[in-house]
Amino acid sequence: MGIDLGTKNTLVYTSDKGIVINEPSVVAINTRTDEILAVGDEARKMVGKTPGHIQAVRPLVDGVISDFEVTEKMLKYFIDKVHNESFTLIPRPRVVIGVPLDITEVERKAVEDAAKSAGARQVFLIEESMAAAIGARLPVADPTATMIVDIGGGTTEISVISLGGVVAWKSLRLAGNELDNNIIQYIREEFNILIGEQLAESIKIKIGSATVLKEKIEMEARGRDLLNGLPKAITINDSQVREAISRTVLQIVENIKTTLEITPPELVSDIYEHGIVLTGGGALLRGLDKEIAQATKIPVRVADDPLTCVVRGTGILLSDPELLAKVITPGPDKM
Ligand code: ADP
Ligand code: MG
Repeated sequence: MGIDLGTKNTLVYTSDKGIVINEPSVVAINTRTDEILAVGDEARKMVGKTPGHIQAVRPLVDGVISDFEVTEKMLKYFIDKVHNESFTLIPRPRVVIGVPLDITEVERKAVEDAAKSAGARQVFLIEESMAAAIGARLPVADPTATMIVDIGGGTTEISVISLGGVVAWKSLRLAGNELDNNIIQYIREEFNILIGEQLAESIKIKIGSATVLKEKIEMEARGRDLLNGLPKAITINDSQVREAISRTVLQIVENIKTTLEITPPELVSDIYEHGIVLTGGGALLRGLDKEIAQATKIPVRVADDPLTCVVRGTGILLSDPELLAKVITPGPDKM
């Protein structure tokens, strides 16, 4: 079983069925009884709409486990769901899980323990950016460098991979969620309207962009008027959203440049040749590839199906023990 435990989405891959779970990393809990009411899609529908005693929790913040117990329960729920649906006879699967680059020993242990107590027999931790590169079919084990930029909900991970290892990297706590926050803040400042996170995200996805678009687009958004507390609708367009998120986009671009600066020169010339590959949901922001290409003078492409690269990478590793042995991060569980 391969797992991408993302801040925003959790995906599970099995060798025989491919991607079997693709749901938001959200758990709804009854705080009076500590009971789990819903996980994934169902729990997400409750975000922002729960009565006092029900809490919709995102157990992963900035790519790492912030609530161990809830993460463990969420993992267990997903692992059990896969088991029940596939009628498999193997009760305790081997699990490959993607983890962030800047994870601490304590956090590694937490992910491992969560997977084990959720039913995994053996746990292999792999850097998410390595898994993303493998999922994007980059030649990670070859003596040539590739750069992968994975932009998720909580973090952006920029890494240069060569010979099965990450040779230079940067991890930013700045990604999709921050773009959503930028939009919330902009609308509050410019229109005196308060909107929720889900609406901000859908504004970003519907009309967000990093570079000027050929055609202008706009949409209507409803929020609460901060002057009188009543609902109010506004129209917002692509250039306003671009302005709102520009600071964060610029920071991502600047950090890609800095990562190139700390990369050994031979590797930089490989990267020039192969280009930079974008993965994660943030890669889908219109024009982001163009903006990065312009700033770095390096060709940039968005991986196919960027949201599933990490989990597909873990899936490839499940069926390729040789590659797994080459790229596995040092930890207590070895092949
Ligand atoms: P994580 O690995 O942290 O769970 P994902 O790789 O699943 O994150 O990406 C989720 C992020 O991608 C969210 O912030 C989401 O809003 C963003 N996203 C998804 N689709 C798009 C899109 N079409 N345009 C811009 N951002 C998008
Ligand atoms: Mg991710």
